[in-house]
Amino acid sequence: MENIKEVILCKYGELILKGTNRSTFEAQLLREVRRRAKNYGQYEVYANQSTVYVEPLDDESAGEDAIDALYRQLKKVFGFVALCRAAVCEKSMDAILEVAKAYLPEKLASAKTFKCESRRSDKKFPFASPEISGEVGGAVLDVCPHLTVDVQDPDVVVKIEVRERFAYVHAGQDKGAGGMPLGSAGKGMLLLSGGIDSPVAGWRMMKRGMTVECVHFESFPYTSEAAREKVFELARELAEYCGKIKVHVISLTHIQEEMRDRCEEDYFTLLLRRFMMRLASRSAEENGCPVLVTGESLGQVASQTLKSMVVTEDAADRPVFRPLVGMDKEEIIVTSREIGTYDTSILPYDDCCTVFTPRHPRTQPELAKVVREEGRLDVDALLEEAWATRHCVVIEQEF
Ligand code: ATP
Ligand code: MG
Repeated sequence: MENIKEVILCKYGELILKGTNRSTFEAQLLREVRRRAKNYGQYEVYANQSTVYVEPLDDESAGEDAIDALYRQLKKVFGFVALCRAAVCEKSMDAILEVAKAYLPEKLASAKTFKCESRRSDKKFPFASPEISGEVGGAVLDVCPHLTVDVQDPDVVVKIEVRERFAYVHAGQDKGAGGMPLGSAGKGMLLLSGGIDSPVAGWRMMKRGMTVECVHFESFPYTSEAAREKVFELARELAEYCGKIKVHVISLTHIQEEMRDRCEEDYFTLLLRRFMMRLASRSAEENGCPVLVTGESLGQVASQTLKSMVVTEDAADRPVFRPLVGMDKEEIIVTSREIGTYDTSILPYDDCCTVFTPRHPRTQPELAKVVREEGRLDVDALLEEAWATRHCVVIEQEF
């Protein structure tokens, strides 16, 4: 396949271009593509006609390994609806046919049926789309005699796109990550535990363009060093999607000991969750996050009934986003596997929520009663003490 230049086309569709945000969105997409591309070689990255073009600038960057690895990276970029690897052709029918004959056989080796589709965004190109498809289809059949045309349900759709500068030939596209460009939707503070749900919640918000920071609560020595490492590993897995993620770690040890000694057991979890909301709010304030994000799902456990959530949220000083609130555990697990956090999430380490767990947690708590229980504690002093334990770890994507 010498002499054929392969590029990656990432398509964002028209959807995200509504309103006046076009140039901002494009800039965010370009920044994210360039950040990833620079780890694999030298590429020119630019946007045109709802597509980001990624063109290798030297042989090494054009190599199969580099393009493959970069392509996998670009599938994680939020905001793209589809991606493909494509061969570049001069804009003449002869050139298109020549490239198609050289480029497509390998791509179609395992297919039995195909069809051609063409799109001509340059209307000055002297052939209409059906003609282009017909010519290329014929050329493919010449060089790949094992193939037949199936317009209903082909194994592969070969596409010819005649665009502004060049024409492109490719053998099918892949789904992109979807969603909105990273950084296009403000910042949120995710309460990240070591469980299955909260990493998925964070990923869902990132997908909608939110920049996510994390706060993690631990209760050393009741929770272990391994439990903390597990949370950092989850953050690392999330960084695959956003490049960099901050984790603010705060200790709840003394709060939990005081609760154990002074409060009614049935309320431990709710009281703890209210402390979490207060500390997370403070961390959100300090780090410019107008909302909190949790992995709660309605009715999943005692602390996630409607009443429990109301009691919990009462202690937050800003909106709490719960992107999983209407999802079943099974559905959350499917996403968790897809995004690559599941295997880490199920490692069996204690979380501070599993320290001093009540045998009969309240499922229908009354706020007044919870506040009364809280009155047995010096809430302000405990908050100050916990706040003083905070430290921040910045986790970056590894290539
Ligand atoms: P997950 O699977 O996310 O751990 P969970 O099923 O353990 O959730 P809960 O313990 O009730 O459920 O926690 C509900 C939410 O509270 C979590 O999704 C997370 O957002 C937050 N949370 C729980 N524990 C912690 C923690 N130790 N640090 C930070 N946030 C936490
Ligand atoms: Mg949960």
